[in-house]
Amino acid sequence: MVFEGRRVTPSKMVCVGRNYVEHVAELDNELPSEPVLFIKPNSAISANVNAGQGDLIHYEAEICFLLEGGHLVGVGFGLDLTKRAVQSQLKAKGLPWERAKAFDGSAVFSEFVRLEGDMQSLQVALWLNGQPVQRGGVEQMIFKPASIVREISTFMRLEDGDIIMSGTPKGVGVIESGDVLRGSIEQGGRPLLEQTWTAL
Ligand code: ZN
Repeated sequence: MVFEGRRVTPSKMVCVGRNYVEHVAELDNELPSEPVLFIKPNSAISANVNAGQGDLIHYEAEICFLLEGGHLVGVGFGLDLTKRAVQSQLKAKGLPWERAKAFDGSAVFSEFVRLEGDMQSLQVALWLNGQPVQRGGVEQMIFKPASIVREISTFMRLEDGDIIMSGTPKGVGVIESGDVLRGSIEQGGRPLLEQTWTAL
């Protein structure tokens, strides 16, 4: 995890599920009345995208926020990698999602840059092998970043370096070995940061 050229170690990543209406629909979930929250441990962080052996891995491109002093100070691109079939089985049984969401390598991040200017105009985009597959932004979020921080803070302390993964827009899908993933964060239509990975 790198923020403005300095190494940061989060104590946790807090992830928001079902934060974009059209993604809720594509997975046939109910619209939430409060944010759906789950955690990835920092052992989930990887520099590489692993397509996985056996379980199919889905990509979820997300706007990620870095916290310091309880405030959103940085923004980066993140992949919330998910074993979708495992998650569906766990959901059907009402069981926790860690096996599908918190495995080693399930969190991949770009570098983070300082968050400045209009947060409402932030957008995330993902291209898979050159094809645009996901795009969305704060404007389409059901729960906006500030309200996510408030909600988390009602029951869990956010420490310096912690990351909020703010949910994924529609268009999630399977990663295969050799796929090229290009992720970007834009602000007001202008690119803020971009990173490319080739799936192992
Ligand atoms: Zn996600």
